[in-house]
Amino acid sequence: MARYAYVNGRYVDHHDASVHIEDRGYQLADGVYEVVGVRDGKLIDEGPHLDRLDRSLKELRIGWPISRDALRFVIRELMRRNRLHDGLVYMQVTRGVARRDHAFPTTPVKPSLVLTTKGTKHLDADTGPGIAVKSMPDIRWERCDIKTVGLLANVLAKQAARESGAYEAWLVDADGYVTEGASTNAWIVTQNDELVTRHTDNGILAGITRATLKSIADALQLKLIERPFTIAEAKRAKEAFITSATSFVTPVVKIDGEAVGAGTPGPVAHRLREEYVRFADAGELVA
Ligand code: PMP
Repeated sequence: MARYAYVNGRYVDHHDASVHIEDRGYQLADGVYEVVGVRDGKLIDEGPHLDRLDRSLKELRIGWPISRDALRFVIRELMRRNRLHDGLVYMQVTRGVARRDHAFPTTPVKPSLVLTTKGTKHLDADTGPGIAVKSMPDIRWERCDIKTVGLLANVLAKQAARESGAYEAWLVDADGYVTEGASTNAWIVTQNDELVTRHTDNGILAGITRATLKSIADALQLKLIERPFTIAEAKRAKEAFITSATSFVTPVVKIDGEAVGAGTPGPVAHRLREEYVRFADAGELVA
């Protein structure tokens, strides 16, 4: 089956899909992206993801390449062509193609739009065995709230984690606090049964899964505190877990080689994942 990508108005064979060498995304990481999870053919939290795309674009003064409604159509058409049942839709907008110069182009350029899909295994309420994380210094810039394609610091941290046998890196700021994962938000459950995740500001990406989980925690009457925590506190926690559009809620069972709690997925992460899957099931159905 041919797999399609969408590139600036065309559905093209994924293998042949390409952008111009002077696309500012390619040369300068001058662009933003979004990843929306798909479960059973349904997009999860599409609206909030498109809202965040809008915010990222506004922060960088990049215009929408096509209207929001048109983008919603393209997402569905690409899912249909690729028979995407479970996985993700990736969308990327860059400032466009222009003669290389750090400053914005002085003549109007059309932003570039690229979409791809990726099929993954069907995620369900089962958390699996959990993952290990490795702490790494957070060497990123001061606008981590913008979802830009400039991900080199995240890439290097994730690679270091993988080389140490861990799945995710937890980034630690200059004051010793965990900001977030390389591509996920970080959470712990304290010995007092409080859910803790770092507050949102320019130091982290405001995860859409994080926001949904806040509502779920609220509905379950769990106590949630948004504040920074250290690696030492996380190691002493009852539970730890990560959230993202593609990992849902995934327990962290080891931090820098030390077991968290019993070293197995805990009941809070399990319950939150169950509820998240329930929420995803109730989402919008793709016709
Ligand atoms: N933080 C970072 C740095 C990320 O790249 C992601 C994944 N987009 C997240 C957090 C989680 O965000 P979301 O729940 O919207 O996928």
